Amino acid sequence: MGSEHRPSQKVKKALEEYRAKRDFAVTPEPKDSEGSKSGRLFVIQKHDATSEHFDLRLELDGVLLSWAVPKGPSLDPATRRLAMRTEDHPVAYGDFEGVIPEDEYGGGTVMLFDQGRWEPNDDPHEGLEKGKLSFEVKGTRMKGNWALVRSGNVGGGDRESWLLIKEKDNHTGQKDLADKHKTSAVTGRSMEEIAQEESPEGQG
Ligand code: MN
Repeated sequence: MGSEHRPSQKVKKALEEYRAKRDFAVTPEPKDSEGSKSGRLFVIQKHDATSEHFDLRLELDGVLLSWAVPKGPSLDPATRRLAMRTEDHPVAYGDFEGVIPEDEYGGGTVMLFDQGRWEPNDDPHEGLEKGKLSFEVKGTRMKGNWALVRSGNVGGGDRESWLLIKEKDNHTGQKDLADKHKTSAVTGRSMEEIAQEESPEGQG
């Protein structure tokens, strides 16, 4: 994943909003990084911020495209889950699990809920523009074909709202992944364990 490599100008530009929102002297979140070897990192982070949500991230062009999914993915193709597009994140974020200090942007506990690879089923650049991404997820928990469909803008603002929908295949189900799994896919820790072990000094 090579944080020793300096990110390209294009990646730096894509991460401007990410960097502007954070004080890296305070938050343990990664500052920037170059893309992964596969170029197709997939990650979901469970994030206990102001309200709990799941951050879905798909690597494209050296950054992680990101959506905040309040209820997490549903395995039922009939259930559409709201997914709010958020700022692109550095690829190194795909390994981040820990605690963002309370007064910082996104303050709260972050758990690596799933990690793996993804493959677009169509041209992803065209899909982003047209507002429909169809893709296959190869995570340890989330699998099979999924779609992200743009549905509008949150509150008429510049934040895009999308819907995350399970496509029909043999990875559908009734129970939510968020109900099935309560621990980190990478470290096996619960949200409480992460919060206790990784709380910054002087907090709480
Ligand atoms: Mn988040």
